Amino acid sequence: MDYRFSEKMSSIQSSATVMLAEKARALKDAGEAIIDLTIGEPDFPTPQNIVEAAHAATKKGQTKYTNSRGTPELRKAISKKLDKDQDLKYDPNTEIIVTPGGKQGVMYSILSFINPGDEVICLEPCWVGYESCIQLAGGTYVGVPTVPENGYALDEETLRKKISRNSRMLFINSPCNPTGKVLTNEEIAVIAKVCVEKNLILVSDDIYEKILFDGRRFTSIAGLPGMFERTIILNGFSKAYSMTGWRLAYLAASKNIIDQMNKLQQLSATCPSSVSQAAGLEALSGDQASVETMRQAYEKRRDKVFAGFNNSKISCFKAEGAFYGFLDIRKLNMNSVAASEYLLEKAKIVGVPGSAFGNAGEGFVRISFATSDDSLNRAIEKIKEL
Ligand code: PLP
Repeated sequence: MDYRFSEKMSSIQSSATVMLAEKARALKDAGEAIIDLTIGEPDFPTPQNIVEAAHAATKKGQTKYTNSRGTPELRKAISKKLDKDQDLKYDPNTEIIVTPGGKQGVMYSILSFINPGDEVICLEPCWVGYESCIQLAGGTYVGVPTVPENGYALDEETLRKKISRNSRMLFINSPCNPTGKVLTNEEIAVIAKVCVEKNLILVSDDIYEKILFDGRRFTSIAGLPGMFERTIILNGFSKAYSMTGWRLAYLAASKNIIDQMNKLQQLSATCPSSVSQAAGLEALSGDQASVETMRQAYEKRRDKVFAGFNNSKISCFKAEGAFYGFLDIRKLNMNSVAASEYLLEKAKIVGVPGSAFGNAGEGFVRISFATSDDSLNRAIEKIKEL
């Protein structure tokens, strides 16, 4: 049958990382000894205090629709967190919205601002989730390349060259998926200056904010002069609290922006899951020890991945945060898709081709180290053997 799907649907692709993770799962289910290094999903269980808070909420009957922006208690806890961590003052009643996952937050941010023809700038290599959303809104994705040779440093001139009269929005993601790069305070200041000068909306994807290595500290761009009113903070519970399946995240921005986003939330989701919100409240207000325990484990794995590849034909940027190794395969004389297929065929390892993260990702393969130490050890040995 000729379904004549909408032009919008034909303009977008399925998520490369989700598809590969599903392929890996299917191969595992079929009995293959696959080492799945595709998806950015912490291998730790959700901390017990969070699970128990969700149980308790369910038993108390907190199983109904909530306020579309999220429960007042959770919004207050988010506001408190932003104040405590970054000295940022967001009104919980008007300047915060809780969403069913960060991906939904990306979609709300883009759909609220982007008209056909508008350009959205992303620092490459960048997370796969932005480009398809931009296309869905009819916008144009514009990548600003960065390279490992200078630690993925942002070059102001390169950024400025990519800005046109149609530029509307800029995404930053620090620590970065897939490279693990953390923006320096100097780079953040440059981005802020350019956003103010060119009147851009800035989406700060802070989802890996708690996973920083070597004593680094997170600085929010929203606190810089002229940035509060043009910044959308996007953060969530998936990575820091190992809560991927709970589908819970949030956006903080000025009232006018949140009002627009709330319209999208009301028509697409009504509200986030009530039980997940109770869990999120405990995540933010309860004991934070598990966040640090997981962070330390990721840092050890980062060291392992870096040491594992440092002197081989494949090299690896020393991730400054998040939980990905971005393997440089340029000396192998094959592109990233071919290299990923080769890894799967010869070593039963599934990684994500760097080309999924924009043109600047070609020549690289992303492996997630949010996986067990055993899988990681086996993967490093197998890749080096190959
Ligand atoms: N932003 C980045 C950079 C991510 O890597 C992810 C998930 O992989 C998300 C946002 C969305 O996370 P979630 O939808 O689980 O909240």
